[in-house]
Amino acid sequence: MPKYKNIIDPHVHLRGKEYSQYPFLQLGFRDAIAVGIAAVGEQPNPNPSLTNVDAVKARLEESKPYRGKIFHWIHIGMTNDLQQNEASLKAVMSGIYGLRSDKTFNTHSTGNMGITDHEKRKAIMFLKGEINYTGVSIFHPEDETLFTGDYDPQDPKSHSIKQNERSETSSIEETVRNAIDGRFKGILYFAHVSSPDSICYINSMRNKVPFEMVIEETWHHMLLNADQDYPLHGNRVKMNPPLRNKSSQERVLEHVLRGDVDVIGSDHAGHPVSLKDLLETGKIPPSGIPALPFWPKGIELLRDYGISKGLLDNLIFNNSNRIFNLDLEPKEVEILYNPDLWTAYGWNPFSRIDGSH
Ligand SMILES: [Zn+2]
Repeated sequence: MPKYKNIIDPHVHLRGKEYSQYPFLQLGFRDAIAVGIAAVGEQPNPNPSLTNVDAVKARLEESKPYRGKIFHWIHIGMTNDLQQNEASLKAVMSGIYGLRSDKTFNTHSTGNMGITDHEKRKAIMFLKGEINYTGVSIFHPEDETLFTGDYDPQDPKSHSIKQNERSETSSIEETVRNAIDGRFKGILYFAHVSSPDSICYINSMRNKVPFEMVIEETWHHMLLNADQDYPLHGNRVKMNPPLRNKSSQERVLEHVLRGDVDVIGSDHAGHPVSLKDLLETGKIPPSGIPALPFWPKGIELLRDYGISKGLLDNLIFNNSNRIFNLDLEPKEVEILYNPDLWTAYGWNPFSRIDGSH
């Protein structure tokens, strides 16, 4: 049976009252336990959103019955209210409720938490500089002013054309600029980097900025693509940022294998599959895919591609352990990929590459 380091998954969405009929929180921890995860970092966009310490405290109470020995921490959400943000950032620095990180959505995604005014994004970064914030600042980088064309649910690929690669790289450039100008002193962390150009840009800037930068990569952006997976899954594989074309996806995978990115996060995000299927509901399908069950298969594939043990350990455990100051004990887990875990979600986004399609 394959062995690997116990995993830290810094990027999961576990849902709240928006899907009160569905046990996504419970399922998330079921899967995390099943694949050998030691810690999960939850994003702040369930309903109610996790944008103040009381909401964070309540959320941790909620996960208690399900999380077993898994360390559950929350990236507290930034809002358009600077005073509230200041309180949240100070809470992160105090370490209360296990806080160690904040999250800014540079555009709207699930939960509509986008800080869409660039002056506001700048003001939040300057606030971080002024209060000498030292936490991890996570960004969802997409600049909606650069989106091209409209999303047409009848043509799933139009989502990838609209939310184009340049809109991501440009949003990263703006964030880096704000962090330099605002004298940011924390760790600048870019979630789910989907474009090879974004990876190249961040790497070209690492030695030119006075703070650490982190590139998070997802399984789907390194292994799935718009050319092959929309034809199989349609809008079910709609996510933000979207799948890229095959050549970009292959370049992302090359960067991962070369050690150009820092951590893997699953961006696990369950939705009722009926909402994903436009023709059944007549609505705009939501963005996000379930991904936690994929961890053992993803690790196996990276090994097949020849990744070194040291690099793999860094991507799935060591780097997140240090960046988020988790201080978790590394250990080996021995786990077989279990495709039956997908059944609870009604589909398997990785069916093309795990051999089940
Ligand atoms: Zn996400």
